[in-house]
Amino acid sequence: MSFVYLCTQNTQYNMSNRTFTMIKPDAVKAGNIGNILQMINAGGFRIVAMKYLKISTEQAEKFYEVHAARPFFGELTQFMSSGPIVAAILEKDNAVADFRKLIGATNPAQAEEGTIRKRYAASIGENAVHGSDSDENAQIEGAFFFSGLEQF
Ligand code: ATP
Ligand code: MG
Repeated sequence: MSFVYLCTQNTQYNMSNRTFTMIKPDAVKAGNIGNILQMINAGGFRIVAMKYLKISTEQAEKFYEVHAARPFFGELTQFMSSGPIVAAILEKDNAVADFRKLIGATNPAQAEEGTIRKRYAASIGENAVHGSDSDENAQIEGAFFFSGLEQF
């Protein structure tokens, strides 16, 4: 059996089925972990991996390094390391796009009704949740937080 055959047959390697999320420090502080997980479950996502942890500013800088040149980089990395987060890998057909739809626009003022950010985000900076923007980044971001042994 070839490696390519295994890759196409085993959903673990079909990355379009997976995305990566964080419940950000604002939503954790506001007591919305349960409400957001409920929306994720109701949206049809299966939890592949999950942990509750606090990252350092250096780890936040590494995670968000694509945004290093943006004016909000310092604010973003300070915020993301300011308190505990929930990190998770989620699985569903079309996971990346469907999860972006469920979380809504980056700026909650522009997020559609019924989205996580519309309900639970206060501002463009403190916007309750993260969602990967591509299959490639979903894979990179999931691997930043989880080893293969932590994914089910
Ligand atoms: P995320 O990557 O967290 O899912 P996103 O993909 O909707 O969010 P990005 O453009 O990737 O948005 O920005 C990453 C994060 O940086 C945003 O979620 C937000 O927390 C912060 N951010 C983005 N734009 C601004 C801004 N203009 N001012 C302050 N913070 C911002
Ligand atoms: Mg993004």
